[in-house]
Amino acid sequence: MTRRRQIYEGKAKILYEGPEPGTLIQYFKDDATAFNAQKKGTINGKGVLNNRISEHIFTLLGTIGIPHHFMRRLNMREQLIRQVEIIPIEVVIRNVAAGSLSKRLGIEEGQQLPRTIIEYYYKDDALGDPLVTDEHIACFGWASQEEMHDIADMAIRVNDFMCGLFAGVGIKLVDFKLEFGRLWENEYARVILADEISPDGCRLWDMVTNEKLDKDRFRRDLGGEVEAYQEVARRLGLLPEGADNVVLDLETQRKKRGR
Ligand code: UDP
Repeated sequence: MTRRRQIYEGKAKILYEGPEPGTLIQYFKDDATAFNAQKKGTINGKGVLNNRISEHIFTLLGTIGIPHHFMRRLNMREQLIRQVEIIPIEVVIRNVAAGSLSKRLGIEEGQQLPRTIIEYYYKDDALGDPLVTDEHIACFGWASQEEMHDIADMAIRVNDFMCGLFAGVGIKLVDFKLEFGRLWENEYARVILADEISPDGCRLWDMVTNEKLDKDRFRRDLGGEVEAYQEVARRLGLLPEGADNVVLDLETQRKKRGR
């Protein structure tokens, strides 16, 4: 394969120039980071699973009319996406108290919230992604009021859909992070869902045991990270029954064939 131009390398993904103008290739790495990249590690096979899980969720969101950047999965670790201008806001949706919310406000982890909360964090590694309000977003022009309206609207619809999707497979959607981007068409930008949706950016707890099936296993040194991600994929019907390591085995075979 010809060498592709790398556009950007993030903590868990690399973006390459795509085959057509306005497209990119999103490559999922096995690298994991936490606490603003102070903790670093590798979860073998994570990228393969996240690529597949994210493909599945974006495809389903498309069927309910959520506009998104995903076009198609190319192989085990790559997907073709539309190039967007990422809005520098991480949108966190919370159904159950956990993580930074529990820490900041002293609310016990696992407490069901009486209503869903949407929070915004300014994407800036040097500042440690600080929590911001609509006022900051408007004041500094990170997104327009209209864009924020669309973002909040989509975030709630995505949350409703994903709560149901995961509840159907015995998983509680505690919280998750979304990112949005501007898709430019003839001087007009429309906001669409971007980035990825995977256990890296969601808190997913088993409905019965509250076992964590997400990146908190890595953050908190609980072990069994890849098994947890595989369990999410398996419950979503993305792994054949009884073939727990099939995704990773396939990748090993592909590498042996040199492709
Ligand atoms: N999250 C994320 N990327 C970030 C920060 C948070 O994907 O840079 C996700 C995280 O996985 C969780 C949700 O957003 O599902 C809320 O995270 P929280 O604010 O509790 O922060 P954390 O405890 O991860 O520091």
